[in-house]
Amino acid sequence: MADFSEYKNVWVFCEQRQGELQTTDFELVSEATKLASELGCKVVGLLLGDNVKGLANEIAGYGADEVVVCESPLLKDYTTDAYAKVLCDMVNEFKPEVLLIGATNIGRDLAPRIAARLHTGLTADATHLDIDTKGYVEYLRESSTIDVDNTTFDWEDRNLKMTRPAFGGHLMATIICPRFRPQISTVRPGVMKKAAFDSAKAQAVKVIEPAFELSADDIKTEVLSIEKAANKLVDLIGADIIVSVGRGIGKDVEKGIALAQELADVLGGGVVGASRAVTDAGWLDAAHQVGQTGKTVHPKIYVALGISGAIQHTAGMQDSECIIAINKNETAPIFGVADYGIVGDLFKVVPQLIEEIKKAKV
Ligand code: FAD
Repeated sequence: MADFSEYKNVWVFCEQRQGELQTTDFELVSEATKLASELGCKVVGLLLGDNVKGLANEIAGYGADEVVVCESPLLKDYTTDAYAKVLCDMVNEFKPEVLLIGATNIGRDLAPRIAARLHTGLTADATHLDIDTKGYVEYLRESSTIDVDNTTFDWEDRNLKMTRPAFGGHLMATIICPRFRPQISTVRPGVMKKAAFDSAKAQAVKVIEPAFELSADDIKTEVLSIEKAANKLVDLIGADIIVSVGRGIGKDVEKGIALAQELADVLGGGVVGASRAVTDAGWLDAAHQVGQTGKTVHPKIYVALGISGAIQHTAGMQDSECIIAINKNETAPIFGVADYGIVGDLFKVVPQLIEEIKKAKV
């Protein structure tokens, strides 16, 4: 068991790609400030790359007090070997209490490797984070048969509670890591809210550049080139308006998608999302999928066309500000999370809706 007194501060691994920070970094730094204020400690961003120091201000603007920067030409492009080595060295040197990593493709590759090397726990794909202020011991008192007053516990009351969907999304599991440090969690992109950018804080950032060792011999792979996907990926996470389609468009898929796009356009530059039934059928590619195994979104307006509202779908959209559902089955579960529901055939309702919105605009 680690000596907990040595571990302090909430760290965020800030992922950059070709010198650009990811939106998830800002979400995690914003979330980290809430955790740090409960723990009474600092938020520290960790930035690995080549010539990336200039990004530290941006990280600080969302709440980081300090940014640890490790620069090397060997860190220019992500490789598992180089990033895992430097990240583990930094953790061993600075000993953060909590380490948050975005559950991006890179984060999902990196986090389990470093957790294993550091011999600590990892919760993957968390959707909610909290500090155990109530106390795990109190929780055990209420929810178990353990005689807590006559049991000696060897952990402190500062555990990070990491919540994620389990058993196919049917229940939410809250996980703690009471015996090891740091407590590591990957966090789903799009779930945590980004704070407002604070330019005063951005200017006040303290940049730390520790010495570290990394040589070409540490890296077993070589990045020859980076090819961007030819398709323009849909930006569901940043969208204010999303019109999603489900299996209900099945009788005329092309028309259903075109109607969804038109509705998204008249509502004001929205994008088209989809249920998994649609992406599994290959009607739209996986980048459009909303839900537990797709994207988590919270737009201002979410329209669900011909989507039944399975828990794995609603897990990814139920925090939208306004949900409008159109479904021909009045008992469809989607109406349970909708603010407005229209029972009817989407192929009849959507064209009428588009006409009415156009009229209201003139
Ligand atoms: P259906 O459930 O078949 O619903 C179609 C709906 O369309 C029905 O309600 C029907 O009444 C309505 N309809 C039909 N015709 C019309 C019409 N003309 N006009 C209006 N309404 C009409 N699903 C996700 O979406 N996202 C995920 O990330 C996801 N992850 C999953 C992870 C796991 C581990 C598992 C087991 C499942 C996951 N699923 C996910 C699948 C999920 O359980 C559902 O199967 C899926 O969401 C159903 O998609 P749907 O609502 O489009 O289709």
